Parts: sequence; C-alpha cells; structure tokens
Amino acid sequence: MSSKNNDSMDGGRGRPLYDINGLGGDLGTNDDNINNDVSEIGRLEELKQQEADLARQLAAIRMEKLSALRSKPLTIGVIGFGRFGQFIAKTLGRHGKIVVTSRSDYTEIANGMGAEYVPLSEPETFLDKNLDVIILATSIVSFESTVKSLTPHLREHVAKRSKGPLLVDVLSVKEHARDILLNYLPEECDILCTHPMFGPDSGKNGWKNLNFVFEKTRVDKVVFDPNSCVDFERSNDRAFNEAYSYTESMDRIERFLSIWEEEGCRMVPLSCKSHDEYAANSQFITHLMGRILGAQGLQKTPIDTKGFESVLKLIDSTTADSFDLFYGLYKFNKKNSLSIIHQLQDAMDDVVDNLKILEKKDLEQQKVHVNVESDEKQRGARID
Ligand code: NAP
Repeated sequence: MSSKNNDSMDGGRGRPLYDINGLGGDLGTNDDNINNDVSEIGRLEELKQQEADLARQLAAIRMEKLSALRSKPLTIGVIGFGRFGQFIAKTLGRHGKIVVTSRSDYTEIANGMGAEYVPLSEPETFLDKNLDVIILATSIVSFESTVKSLTPHLREHVAKRSKGPLLVDVLSVKEHARDILLNYLPEECDILCTHPMFGPDSGKNGWKNLNFVFEKTRVDKVVFDPNSCVDFERSNDRAFNEAYSYTESMDRIERFLSIWEEEGCRMVPLSCKSHDEYAANSQFITHLMGRILGAQGLQKTPIDTKGFESVLKLIDSTTADSFDLFYGLYKFNKKNSLSIIHQLQDAMDDVVDNLKILEKKDLEQQKVHVNVESDEKQRGARID
C-alpha cells in the first residue's frame, strides 16, 4: 500500500475518504475498491438518470391528466335545494352536471332544470354520483346538524379514494361556516367558504357585476390563516410547487370559481372574519331595516313617492327571504349584529332627540315672539 493510498484511507478503518455515501466496501485491494467504486458510481448515475426520466414522464402524464380534467365539466352536488339552492343550481347547470339533495322532495323542480334529485336520507347514493364539488346551501341554523350527519358518510367515501370532493358553503355568515367545516370534515376534503352577495331577487337578471366573496379555507390539507401576514397563495406556491395533489386541489377550486367569474361576478377574495365585519354593516342592517319597516304594515298609497316605493321594495326583498335566514344572520354573527342593533337604537334616539330639541327651540322662540308682541301691545296702549 503506497503512502499516497494510505493518505486516502480513513485512519486504517479501510473505507476510502471519498466514499461519502458509504457505497464503497472495505474488501480487496485499493485498485479493486476504486474499480468497484467507479462501477457503483456509474450505476448510481444510471439510476438517477432513470429516476429523472420517470419523473419527467410522470410530470407529462399528470399535465395530460390535468388538461383532461380541465376539459371535463364539473359534477356539482347541492345539499339544500330551497330558494337559494334552486337559484344557483339553475345557472350552475349551464356549466356542469348537477345532482341535488334536500329534506323535501324536489324531484320535479330538479328534473325541470335538468338536474338529478336524491333524497337527503340517502347520503351514500348522493356521494356515489362522482361529485367533484359539494355545495352546502341549507339554512344557517341547520348547517351544523347537516354537516355533522354528512361527515361519517363522507369519511367512508374518502377512505376508498385518495381525494375527497371540494366542499363549498354559501352561508351568509362566514366564520360560523368556516369553524363547522374545519371542525367536522375529513382533511381529505378541500374547503372553500363563499358568499354570493346576491339572491333570487337581486340576481334574477343575471350575475353580472354582483359580488362573490370567497376564502380558500383549506387546500390540500393546508389551512388558510387569516391572522398571518403571509400571503396564502404565494407561500403555498413556494412550499408545494412540485406537489401534484396541491395542483389538483387548486385546479378544482379555480375551475369552480371560474364559473362565477364567467357569469360576470365581481370576485372578492376576503377572509371569513373580515366578511362578517363588513356584512353586519351592510347586509344585516338592510335585513333589520326591512323587517322593522315591514313590521309596521306599510301599504302602497295612491300618491307614493319614489322614496316610498324604494321602502316598499326593501320590505319585499328582505321579507321574501326566510325568517331562518334573518335569525341566522343575527345569531351566528352575534358580536357584529348586536353592535349594529345598539348603534341603530342609539341613532334612532339621537334623531328623535334632535327633532325634540328643535321643537323645544321653536316653542321657546314662539314664546319670545308672543311676549314681544304683548309687550309692544301694552306699550302701544300706554301711548294711546
Ligand atoms: P333558508 O331558509 O336559509 O334555507 C332553506 C334551505 O335549508 C332549504 O334547502 C331547506 O331544505 C334547508 N333546511 C332547513 N332546515 C333544515 C334542516 N333542519 N335540515 C336540513 N335542511 C334544512 O333559505 P335560502 O334562501 O334557501 O338560503 C339557503 C342558504 O343560502 C343559507 O345558508 C343562506 O345564508 C344562503 N344564501 C342565501 C341567499 C339568498 O338571497 N336567499 C344569498 C346568499 C346566500 P328543504 O327545502 O328540503 O326543507
């Protein structure tokens, strides 16, 4: 063994120092070892090359699969086929296959719009319809019980597949929906929390320029954190750049959102938390005023002003929605809705107080006027 070769040995333990991966053995002569190492390194390179080729092939197949998926219309399930469920299903049906389920039997209405109806009592049949997306459109007050009873069936369903369907809610309150979905749904299901800020009245002539609020709440098991200053999409893009499953999840969400975009909606990405703060100041107060004015039993008159016509319209549009919806807006966004009620009561008191103050001033001025007049009369009488 030459001193040169000795130099390349590790303290006599027989392993060459360049054998950093531990692939070389310590049997045989150095020349044998070197030859073995060279052939093993060659084999390793070959394997790496094969691995890279397979990765390229897999990426190409996945791209092809994605484009096949993109060209295939989504199959959309709707749970809760009441006023709002029917309203959205009619338009969504232009973009994909619709399967609906609800407590009441809506077979005829569903068939009338080319959708399929499955009774709510048959969740397995509903889930077996190969649904890409499930929209939850039940009342706010029944949302938790609906999700709770769906969950075991959903768990069984996803256990047989690598990926669950995308779950979308359309509730008019968002933090409540978000909490329930994150709490109950199996993590194989992606979650998109949305609120179309329109309904059967405001959207009866199409959805153009109407606001559609959404939060990509859970994508491929990663939960959006509204308190983090990190941009969800960019951080995930970085972290999951190569992850096919993430791409697949995002792709499905984007395809679903693109339907609303194509229909002309103004797409508003917004956290559920911010939504609820804004909505109390806009939607809840609208419903509250409509209900208060409606409770007064206001009627059309033969001399209505345009302003009064707007008041009647407000009453009509807010009372057309169920009381469940109004109650849900109050109960499940309580902190914000209660503060709106108190502000309204204070504002009402302020306005009435201002009227009373003005009236008092008027009366005082009238008194002064009467006193001045009587003083003048008395002075006039004395002069006479
Ligand atoms: P709603 O009174 O809030 O909900 C009616 C729906 O809830 C029906 O499909 C009904 O099913 C279902 N439901 C009620 N109680 C149930 C229970 N205990 N178990 C299972 N399902 C139950 O009226 P909506 O206007 O249709 O609203 C539906 C959802 O859309 C709500 O979450 C609402 O916040 C949201 N939304 C509504 C509007 C709108 O303009 N109306 C706009 C945006 C979002 P059955 O008919 O089978 O009984």
